[in-house]
Amino acid sequence: MMSKIISGKEVSAQVKDAIRIQVSELKEKNISIGLAVIIVGNNEASRVYVNGKKKDCEEVGIESYEYALPENTTQEELMDLVQKLNSDDRIDGILCQLPIPKHLDEKEVLNAISPEKDVDAFHPINVGRIMIGDYNFLPCTPAGVMEMIKSTGVEIKGKECVVVGRSNIVGKPMAMLLLHQSGTVTICHSKTKDLREVCKRADILVAAVGVANLITADMVKEGAVVIDVGMNRLESGKLCGDVDFESVKEVAGYITPVPGGVGLMTRAMLLQNTLTAAKVKHVLA
Ligand code: NDP
Repeated sequence: MMSKIISGKEVSAQVKDAIRIQVSELKEKNISIGLAVIIVGNNEASRVYVNGKKKDCEEVGIESYEYALPENTTQEELMDLVQKLNSDDRIDGILCQLPIPKHLDEKEVLNAISPEKDVDAFHPINVGRIMIGDYNFLPCTPAGVMEMIKSTGVEIKGKECVVVGRSNIVGKPMAMLLLHQSGTVTICHSKTKDLREVCKRADILVAAVGVANLITADMVKEGAVVIDVGMNRLESGKLCGDVDFESVKEVAGYITPVPGGVGLMTRAMLLQNTLTAAKVKHVLA
């Protein structure tokens, strides 16, 4: 069996097209949408991500406002900026690019972002709202994965879903979203016994681990939907997922590539959340 490739490029383009249309409809009502991106220090990877996010905003007509702070920024200065953006009417979404320098308290910063503008959905209020199924925002990566699964037409209800990884930003919310869609969900982690057997049960398998090529063909059920969240930089500089794409594609029904997969969806869902924040603010959602 040769699997169908779920293209992050195609699915994210569809999501962005729909966003672009809605953004221009809001513009006709004189509503413009703004995303504030805070970046602290000189992390090269962060710079690449922030540039990508700004470019994405431009593509769909969302205004982006960058706040680049120096490495030696104090906690107080950063907190002041967050408060200022919380009450700035132009700004619908605020995100602070992580990691921030070690001397700063990341938790305090994330908790200070107004839950209504928290487009990464990292604030405890938004995390709690996801738990009870009453939310406006979903964290971008799990939300993007759900769009990819949806694009296959495979129903989640009643299916065996296995999520490998239990981080707060990917694994745990991912499991919760699959549960909301009535999947039978198992969460695996580094202490899981016999990962192979558990994965092999999965009709829908999501790998969010950070170990290159951990998921091999012998761990995958014939015809399964396999979603690879992993982004691992090999010594050669090549980007590679948590799934051994070459072997697993011979077994799976659907598979996502890396690059060109979940990463592009994560970016698109940030725009979606920013649009949602604006719609909620203007009581349109
Ligand atoms: P974390 O490091 O926070 O979590 C990794 C999880 O994997 C942990 O729960 C850990 O278990 C588990 N794990 C580690 N080794 C094993 C193993 N051998 N077997 C089973 N489980 C294992 O990572 P993140 O969730 O933040 O990210 C995961 C991957 O996804 C990374 O490659 C990251 O770069 C990528 N990523 C990609 C995004 C995208 O847009 N495509 C967005 C965010 C992340 P334990 O809890 O027991 O330690």
